[in-house]
Amino acid sequence: MQVVGTVAGVRTLVRQWRREGLTVGLVPTMGFLHDGHISLVKRAVGECDRVVVSVFVNPSQFGPAEDFEDYPRDIAHDIQVLREAGAHCVFHPEPAEMYAPDFCTWVQVEGLTEGLCGRTRPTHFRGVCTIVSKLFNICLPDRAYFGQKDAQQLAIIRRLVRDMSYGIRVIGCPIIREADGLARSSRNVYLSSDERKAAVVLSRSLRHGEKLVIAGEKSTETVIEAIKKEIATEPLARIDYIEAVDAVTMKPVATIEKPTLFAMAVYIGKTRLLDNFITGDVM
Ligand code: AMP
Repeated sequence: MQVVGTVAGVRTLVRQWRREGLTVGLVPTMGFLHDGHISLVKRAVGECDRVVVSVFVNPSQFGPAEDFEDYPRDIAHDIQVLREAGAHCVFHPEPAEMYAPDFCTWVQVEGLTEGLCGRTRPTHFRGVCTIVSKLFNICLPDRAYFGQKDAQQLAIIRRLVRDMSYGIRVIGCPIIREADGLARSSRNVYLSSDERKAAVVLSRSLRHGEKLVIAGEKSTETVIEAIKKEIATEPLARIDYIEAVDAVTMKPVATIEKPTLFAMAVYIGKTRLLDNFITGDVM
C-alpha cells in the first residue's frame, strides 16, 4: 500500500493502473477511521482491482464556528487499518495541496443541498461537492463508495455525478452501528460517558418510527411525531431536525409512496449526531 501526499503522485499511480486495464475504486474519508469507513473500503476492495482511500479533513466543508481544528485525526492508525483492509493507496494531502491560496472555483449542487443539514450548515455541501469533484478528477475512479450514514450527501453526490457526466458508479453502503445501535462516527469520540449512553436515543427512536412504517403507517407526520416523542425522553438530546423527504430529490414528503428518507440531526450535549433510515430501496 502506498501513502501519497501529492496530486501528481496519485495521478502517476492511477495512470499506470489504467494503462494496465485495472479498475479503480475511490473511498473519500476525513480519516479517524472506524468500522463504518472500513466497510466501504472492503466493499471497494472486493469490487475493484485497485482502491484509493483519501484521508483529508476538508476545511471548506466546515463553517467558521465548526470543529475543523478539533476534528479527530490519527493518520498512523488510519494507515494501519487501511493496510489490513487491503487498500492500495492512501491519499493524504495537506490542505495547501488541495487549495491554492487564491482558490476560487466551487461546485454547487442546487435544491438537494438546501434542506436538512444544509439549513444548519449552509456552505457544507458546497465544500463537499468541491472536494469530491477534485478527488474524482485526480483519482479517475470507475466506482466511488459513500455511506448511507450521510444520506443527504449520498443523494447529492449521485446527482453531481449524473449532472456533470462523471461516468462514475456511485455505490451507497449501509450504516454500520455499535452493538447498542449508535451509528459509528468519528465524532462519537467527543461524547462523555453519560452522553455516549444518551446517544443511543437516535437509533432507538428511528427504530420505533421504522416499525410504524413496516406496520403500514403512511403518514410521515405520524411517524415523525412518534420519533420526536422518543427523543424527548432523553434530557441530553436536543433536536436540530427530524424530517421525511423523498430519498432521491430530498423534497419533503407527507405520504409514503416512493422511497422516503427519515433523517435526523440531534445534539447530544455539544455534539451533533446524524442518523436515518430509508423506506424501500434506493441503494
Ligand atoms: P467521513 O470520514 O465522516 O467523511 O465519512 C467518510 C465516508 O464514510 C462517508 O461516505 C460516510 O457516509 C461513510 N461513513 C461514515 N460513518 C459510517 C457508518 N457508520 N456506516 C457506513 N458508512 C459510514
